[in-house]
Amino acid sequence: MAGRILKSDIDEVRARVNLGDVIGDYVSLKSAGVGSLKGLCPFHDERSPSFHVRPQVGMYHCFGCGEGGDVYTFLQKMDHVTFAEAVERMAAKVGYTLHYEDGGSAAQESGNRARLLAANRAAGSSSWSASRPRARIPAGASWASAASTVRPPRTSAWGSRPRAGTS
Ligand SMILES: [Zn+2]
Repeated sequence: MAGRILKSDIDEVRARVNLGDVIGDYVSLKSAGVGSLKGLCPFHDERSPSFHVRPQVGMYHCFGCGEGGDVYTFLQKMDHVTFAEAVERMAAKVGYTLHYEDGGSAAQESGNRARLLAANRAAGSSSWSASRPRARIPAGASWASAASTVRPPRTSAWGSRPRAGTS
């Protein structure tokens, strides 16, 4: 049984992928200033674009519905793949060979569901899970603070987002 994808590989693939290209396959994006693209949000119905993508930061965020995350979050939500599948897809896209914690390389396609789930959990997907209630982010605040960070940690990428269940 293959182990989890190495975290360093997950980060490397994220850094190599151009988020604007990936999201551009799903959403028509226009320039919204230096280092920023915007388009109509694929996660809620809207007529004026409030879905912003920052390829250099590797993050996207919608001011309308509060969806946000990185390239893996986007693929999980758009295509309903697991975290590991999203990583494997992006690795294939950029021609990067993933390594797994037990030294295996390619995933064995039979019976690897448990591995995928384990990788999904381990990779910190909990804070971005689809079951999380959509919280509306206070205008501007978290976006501005995230923008000053080159590669924000995924759990606090959008800053002051209220945690579910603390109120
Ligand atoms: Zn939205």
